[in-house]
Amino acid sequence: MSESCLVCDEVSGDIPVPGGQLEASDQVAVFHCPIVAPATDVYAGYLFVVPRRHVPGFSGLTEDEAEAVGVAIARWSRVLEAVGAEHVYVLRIGHGVDHLHVHLVPRWPGTPSEVSWLHVDDWDGARRVDTPAAADFVSTLRTVGVA
Ligand SMILES: [Zn+2]
Repeated sequence: MSESCLVCDEVSGDIPVPGGQLEASDQVAVFHCPIVAPATDVYAGYLFVVPRRHVPGFSGLTEDEAEAVGVAIARWSRVLEAVGAEHVYVLRIGHGVDHLHVHLVPRWPGTPSEVSWLHVDDWDGARRVDTPAAADFVSTLRTVGVA
């Protein structure tokens, strides 16, 4: 299924993601959020964990897919913490795109306490990067993730 599904296109590579996929198995894909025009930057470390198959939500996952998604959420949360995230928010929203995608959003040190989780990626001092810097960051995450 890929009749204009943004996530299917990211999983298939039709829409490039910075630095390529961090994890790609039969069941799950993990990648850094790409920059979507008109934006020119993206929040560093903003990852998506998605089932490879087009499934709208958790209730549609097979047991194997659910296990793979859960393990990937744990693994890449650990990696974000290993590179300095003081907290990793895990969100499933799903109003805009009907292909399950779990957001992993790091809270980086130096984020003022008054900045809520909802704005951790867009306050004035948020760690935002362009595509080459996001790709470099993905390389670092990949190195830590396989260690
Ligand atoms: Zn899809």
